[in-house]
Amino acid sequence: MGRSVLVTGGNRGIGLAIARAYQERGDKVAVTHRGSGAPDGLLGVQCDVTDSAAVDAAFTEVENAHGPVEVLIANAGITDDTLLMRMSEDQFTRVIDANLTGAWRVTKRATRGMLKARFGRIVYISSVVGLMGSPGQVNYAASKAALVGMARSIARELGSRDITANVVAPGFVATDMTDALTEERKQQILATIPSGRYATPEEVAAAVTFLTSDAAGYITGAVLPVDGGLGMGH
Ligand code: NDP
Repeated sequence: MGRSVLVTGGNRGIGLAIARAYQERGDKVAVTHRGSGAPDGLLGVQCDVTDSAAVDAAFTEVENAHGPVEVLIANAGITDDTLLMRMSEDQFTRVIDANLTGAWRVTKRATRGMLKARFGRIVYISSVVGLMGSPGQVNYAASKAALVGMARSIARELGSRDITANVVAPGFVATDMTDALTEERKQQILATIPSGRYATPEEVAAAVTFLTSDAAGYITGAVLPVDGGLGMGH
């Protein structure tokens, strides 16, 4: 309790639900935003995760207000969907830069304090499509699958310092990201989900807070699906 928590992209959507869940537990919660400001009661730090200097400045701001980050949730992410034959190199690298390299940037900066404290909890928000694949999402799925290799490497590198790194892989969650899908695509997706519905952002947040709780101290390098059964078997 009372830990310093940073959630990237915690100003809205799944990230905001995660931030609120930590706030309810009595933690000191900071969220990044790219100009929108932070919702009530949360410390907002302006940060684009594709910019290393902005990441460094954001962490310094959080450290000054709340102390070194003990719990890092790398949640910020984008999609830029199109079929492979139409995907430009810029569309590919832009998504990788935000979703994967961005997660690497914040992790590298966070582990400075975690190593000193000999304690840290890191969770990456991946996606069911990282391991299932998804037509039109070559860039996005590649970025989300890579988070698994990154988490497991960090788990091996830093495990002896009581730093854990885990992955939460949500299925479809009702947020702005999925609102952008056509009605037809939404119905197609619903038909494939064993639970027959989308997740709420709060259901994803519950998995995240569990993985960083004291009860989960021996869980590292794990991929926890929150997908209503959609990805079963991978
Ligand atoms: P939203 O589109 O609702 O929110 C995305 C968040 O990421 C925003 O806070 C946005 O900030 C932030 N963000 C995007 N790019 C950057 C950047 N370069 N630097 C800093 N922040 C950035 O998405 P969701 O809440 O739906 O998704 C959150 C995470 O969950 C993402 O990683 C997504 O891939 C993943 N996910 C979502 C699923 C879903 O069905 N919704 C399913 C599986 C995974 P800003 O407000 O400034 O734009």
